[in-house]
Amino acid sequence: MDRRSVLTGAAGLAVGAATFASPAIAKGKKELKMVTTWPKNFPGLGTGAQRFADRVTASSGGDLTIKLYAAGELVPPFESFDAVSSGTADLYHAADYYWKGKSAAYNFFTAVPFGLTANEMDAWIHHAGGQELWDELGSQFGLKHLLGGNTGVQWGGWFKKEINSLEDMKGLKMRMPGLGGDVLNEIGANALALPGGEIYPALQSGAIDASEWVGPWNDLAFGFYKVAKNYYYPGFHEPGSSLGIGMNSKVWEGLSKPHQALVQNAALAENNYMYAEFNARNGDALKTLVTKHGVVVRKTSDDILNALGAASGQLMADVANTDKITRKVYDSFIKFRKNAISMAKYSDEAYSKARRLPFKYGG
Ligand code: CA
Repeated sequence: MDRRSVLTGAAGLAVGAATFASPAIAKGKKELKMVTTWPKNFPGLGTGAQRFADRVTASSGGDLTIKLYAAGELVPPFESFDAVSSGTADLYHAADYYWKGKSAAYNFFTAVPFGLTANEMDAWIHHAGGQELWDELGSQFGLKHLLGGNTGVQWGGWFKKEINSLEDMKGLKMRMPGLGGDVLNEIGANALALPGGEIYPALQSGAIDASEWVGPWNDLAFGFYKVAKNYYYPGFHEPGSSLGIGMNSKVWEGLSKPHQALVQNAALAENNYMYAEFNARNGDALKTLVTKHGVVVRKTSDDILNALGAASGQLMADVANTDKITRKVYDSFIKFRKNAISMAKYSDEAYSKARRLPFKYGG
């Protein structure tokens, strides 16, 4: 019996076992272990992973069960990839840019600085070659990849002092992990990669001057407004962070066709549902931050954004040279990004501007 798949019942049981009344040993039932990089029921990310698991379980009528293990319950969060690749766990729910040490190509399947928005990520993955490249990358590690959520565009972050010019960024100690942090360093800031739980005390003590996290909904929960009042938008570093589901390839291939379709559909559903939840809750959370907690919302200057953009373009071109698959992914991503930018000008961007014209509409 494959140790990755717990076939409850079947193997080893004498003929006639089906006459026992226990449903737990019904033939063909399968339970998969899903590890995540999120604390248990963490808003949006942890709750989304749980919803995905519950959808699979409910849609299969209990024939295929996904049991969720929060960060640290089965393996430490950042060991999720190896756990699934080696078969200790069956699948993970995570942000694939955590696996950039395996291949820099993984950055592109979550978010890269000045990259794609949530809708554009979906478009690239589903309809412009992204999924095929993701699977090609995954095959090097024995993994099958699926989209499983999105945070939408993230915010620039929390700053203790106002930032008015590029000069103000020099020497600024800011928590920003990953490629975004590398870009900050390029323009003279000092980026640090602290885990979520360490951000608040670091801001409070002055060990850092600023920090990004996600957006109003998740940031409100952490209480950053108590120690930094300037909340800057937009974030350049994570314009639409996709969350990923990675399943051990052998486990994936061992699923029946209906179960594969069911997992795909549950992942697709959660990908949209989570994004919608962030969009719905961010608005109310922002109102609370401003009206109840005196947070000042500020726009990052175009000068700073332009410098960050130039540094991002250079960095991504360098990242592309890391390995063969990263080059392939980069080329596909850049080609799609060009098309997306020219389309947005006529669609979402143009409409967003149009509806902010000063005409009267509703209350
Ligand atoms: Ca973030």
